[in-house]
Amino acid sequence: MPSSTRHLVLVGGGHTHALVLLALGKNPLPGSRLTLVSDVESAPYSGMLPGHVAGLYEAAEMHIDLPRLCRYAGADFVSAHVSGYDSGTGILQREGGDALDLRPDFISFNVGSSPQLDAVAGTRRWAIPSKPVPELLAGWTRVREAAARMAPGGEPLRIVVVGGGAGGVELTLAMQSQLPGTTRFDLVHGGDHLLPGHNPRVQRLVEDLLAARGITTRLGRRVVEVTGEETRLDDGSSLESDFVFWVTQPAPPRWLRHSGLALNEKGFLRVGPTLECVGRSGIFAAGDVASIEDVPLPKSGVYAVRMAAPLEANLRAAWLGNPLVAYRPQRHILSLIGTADGRAVVSRPWLPTLHSRIAWRWKDRIDRRFMRQFVEADRSVQTD
Ligand SMILES: Cc1cc2nc3c(=O)[nH]c(=O)nc-3n(C[C@H](O)[C@H](O)[C@H](O)COP(=O)(O)OP(=O)(O)OC[C@H]3O[C@@H](n4cnc5c(N)ncnc54)[C@H](O)[C@@H]3O)c2cc1C
Repeated sequence: MPSSTRHLVLVGGGHTHALVLLALGKNPLPGSRLTLVSDVESAPYSGMLPGHVAGLYEAAEMHIDLPRLCRYAGADFVSAHVSGYDSGTGILQREGGDALDLRPDFISFNVGSSPQLDAVAGTRRWAIPSKPVPELLAGWTRVREAAARMAPGGEPLRIVVVGGGAGGVELTLAMQSQLPGTTRFDLVHGGDHLLPGHNPRVQRLVEDLLAARGITTRLGRRVVEVTGEETRLDDGSSLESDFVFWVTQPAPPRWLRHSGLALNEKGFLRVGPTLECVGRSGIFAAGDVASIEDVPLPKSGVYAVRMAAPLEANLRAAWLGNPLVAYRPQRHILSLIGTADGRAVVSRPWLPTLHSRIAWRWKDRIDRRFMRQFVEADRSVQTD
């Protein structure tokens, strides 16, 4: 039997760990001490993020209250931004340099990803990153305030969004739905079509939709510099910009480089099919930060959610000394892309393209059901 002193530490309250905590609240690990380390108390749910920007969901509806979830799960909540981990000693460091006194026996990382800001001059100073989400939402608040200050009939506000994946497209449409007429939007994307990885019919539909909404799409262009007034592109042209949103390829946290854990070529944690870090027993990772060996998956909240059941099963198996089980992700998942007009696009390689109100209602129901689990857990703690 496991000794009562063993300690499971979850780092980052992303989608996967939120669901693991929910599962551990329902079915606790025998004799465990459980801790969540998170740099936020309210964890945003990505599925509702564009809908929140589009004014469809209140902030509280799309955030998970992590301290309350921890209470449900019987876990300690430690508020800290982890800035280092030594896999040899097991020591976690918080920003500022001091070590967290946690001594984990098992540890799991679900710290997400954020767009790379240092590759292009001026982005760290001027661009609003799509992650961490609190920074994105603070930037969006500044945009709305600037729009509210604009004189009627004056020059429009100029917004540039960089990155034409699903996140960039949804964010652009969501912002545009809230600022029609008063704002000029440019969406810059390095590829020949928006939404890489989606089928060409969906790409065309979305490109046409953006054009119909007055959003200019600049395909095959890369940003080479951002300044306080303009966004310079690699063809020598530049776009006047009051605000620049940076929604480019996700990158992993830099501090993992010094962890001693195996990383892939981009710096994400290499994990096996059991979500255990390559060559390290008792150390796990899931969600965007994890890269499963030989299974290239897009960085998406859907996969972060789907990794929760196998992660919880394997944390439990590791805890009990049982064999771990392999997670076999679906290669193609159904995507529902909200278009902030009461509709959503259904995207899956072999399905006919559908852009409809029914699709939005479907997406809305899935997302609300996801969040309801946490509300119900919270209620059960309050009524105990
Ligand atoms: C604009 C936008 C819209 C998107 N829309 C969708 C969508 O509709 N559907 C979809 O499937 N995906 C969407 N995505 C992608 C999705 O956001 C990510 O794939 C998903 O959030 C990854 O989940 P995760 O659990 O790995 O990490 P996250 O959800 O990013 O959570 C990581 C958590 O760890 C915390 N953390 C990070 N670093 C530290 C640290 N050092 N110390 C302590 N805590 C830390 C963070 O604060 C955060 O709470 C969107 C992305 C963007 C940018």
